Amino acid sequence: MEVIIDYFSTIPSSHRSLILVSGITFFWLLEYANPLFKFKYKKFKHAWPNIFFTLTTIVINFFLAFILLKTSDWTVESKFGLLQWLEFPLWATIVLGVLLLDFTGAYLAHWVQHKIKPLWMFHLIHHTDNHVDTTTANRHHPGESVIRFIFTTLGVFILGAPVGIVMLYQSLSVVFSQFNHANIELPKKLDDIISWVIVSPDMHKVHHHYVLPYTDTNYGNIFSIWDRLFGTFAKIRNEEITYGVDSYPDVDSNAHIVKLLKLPFKGYRPPTGGKFD
Ligand SMILES: [Zn+2]
Repeated sequence: MEVIIDYFSTIPSSHRSLILVSGITFFWLLEYANPLFKFKYKKFKHAWPNIFFTLTTIVINFFLAFILLKTSDWTVESKFGLLQWLEFPLWATIVLGVLLLDFTGAYLAHWVQHKIKPLWMFHLIHHTDNHVDTTTANRHHPGESVIRFIFTTLGVFILGAPVGIVMLYQSLSVVFSQFNHANIELPKKLDDIISWVIVSPDMHKVHHHYVLPYTDTNYGNIFSIWDRLFGTFAKIRNEEITYGVDSYPDVDSNAHIVKLLKLPFKGYRPPTGGKFD
């Protein structure tokens, strides 16, 4: 345990990039081997806007990282925050830290973006992908990257999370997001069993169904406990899923980087609940 935390406390940026690239590569290859949906799309062409938005996410997090690190260092030095006050054994501190950072940095940040319209306008870009695969994981408008960063920093502050736990959480978060967005089919039983603990691919796909109320369910990223605890867990059969957002049916616009960047500043479109092809 100590070795893990020591490693993540001083993890070089190059290793973090390597985790992200290895994750995408691994799930990308699995998508060829065992796809959930046989999309009629050009995989590389589809990936391009998503990779662009992954890069903007990396750049924003790179420039804001010092705020996260300073917050973490301050809480540890000042003995401030839940983890500092509890003084649990190291393994329990790590588990609780990752669990609660997953709540604030992912579940809560995500839920809030679905409930507050101006924030939804940024998060919308993530949902407009009509072919969800592992590259969709970090398809975040730069505005959303900032929103998520604020929530993660708030979580680190309240928890008093040491930097090793923060970096471990962020690395797990990237890989889990790539995993639960991947267009892969796990044996149904296995998917069901793991969805009691972690967010499985089938579980997260429900969140990308194009109509409410499904879009407003399964907000979790690493652990499924938050959705089960707060009553936002839902299931539908994979065959019933259509990806996208009902009020944004134009597949070409949904792959156009400049249009996507401008989308939050255009007018809000209420849900239609309708069908599109
Ligand atoms: Zn969402």
